[in-house]
Amino acid sequence: MSEEEVSYFRRALLGWAAQTPRPMPWKGEKDPYKIWLSEVILQQTRVEQGMPYYEKFVKAYPDSRALAGAPEDEVLKMWEGLGYYSRARNLLQTARHIAFDRNGVFPDKYGDIRSLKGVGDYTAAAIASFAFNLPYPVVDGNVYRVLSRYFALDAATDLSSSKKMFASLAGKLLDPDRPGAFNQAIMDFGALCCTPAQPDCGNCPLSQRCLALVKGTPADYPVRLKKTAKKERFFLFLIVRRGDKTLVRKRTGKDIWKGLYEFPNIETGSTAELSETDIKAIFPEGTPKGVLLGEPSDFCRQTLTHREITAVFRELVVPENSPANFIRDGIFSNCIETDLAELKKKFAFPVIISGFLKKFV
Ligand code: SF4
Repeated sequence: MSEEEVSYFRRALLGWAAQTPRPMPWKGEKDPYKIWLSEVILQQTRVEQGMPYYEKFVKAYPDSRALAGAPEDEVLKMWEGLGYYSRARNLLQTARHIAFDRNGVFPDKYGDIRSLKGVGDYTAAAIASFAFNLPYPVVDGNVYRVLSRYFALDAATDLSSSKKMFASLAGKLLDPDRPGAFNQAIMDFGALCCTPAQPDCGNCPLSQRCLALVKGTPADYPVRLKKTAKKERFFLFLIVRRGDKTLVRKRTGKDIWKGLYEFPNIETGSTAELSETDIKAIFPEGTPKGVLLGEPSDFCRQTLTHREITAVFRELVVPENSPANFIRDGIFSNCIETDLAELKKKFAFPVIISGFLKKFV
């Protein structure tokens, strides 16, 4: 790519950004803590959805020390609804590292920023360029789309070899004098002009030299390998009711819902009907006297990166004065009893459960 081509791209993009305001609460922010917070929230989250969470976090935890002192349950509760909870756990771990091991000072070198837990290439480049004006290009879905269209690149963006090529291309185009402004401009441009569906090519500052437009095929870019089918899983959650109490359990396994709460549950077949094996999994000693199993709820669904989760909720009504020994063992083990009215206030649940609770309690 010639100097002239690079300079045309930079000029067109930065000129467009100067005339296209896109206000966001973290824009122009120089505090690396707040930039990091916004970038972690925006990983896998739309800007509109992330904004209120950012405001809420900044208000509750204005710096790394404030966040470091928060209990994990409180942070997870505040994160509730954003999904991908490993982000919240990493956020807390990193805040504690900065507050206690680094005396509250956020790292200011790319390598040190990149080594923070939960910070990948993209987030490190965003923090380094926005907070410290360091010349590292951001490469996210927006950048893949803009570059693959502009240069009509057929390389599949989900191949690691292509990722390197895109990163190198973005690095050549990056304006070393204004890396933060350039990174912000290319992200805004991808979000507002060169959008996934129906890009605004008629008003595009790059249209004169955009090769996908010349070919008449912007919609063909970016190229991706075929997606693998998502695995489906089905769960039955039991809302055990004894008077106005119920049971919840904290998840401890190493999965994306670690640290969140759940109701006792079993993995079932694909329908709301329970098989004999399901019943046995709930009550290995036979259905206890006086216990009533309520009707199944409507199906609740959640789509994760590699999974489609379908859940059904059923009440399990236990007589208030029964000893109900069974709720200490099997699928009920490690549960704690809590007031039904406290559920939504006190515990952070995976989206599939909190979504159901909005209608239930
Ligand atoms: S001309 Fe269209 S496809 Fe090409 S960069 Fe601009 S908006 Fe994207």
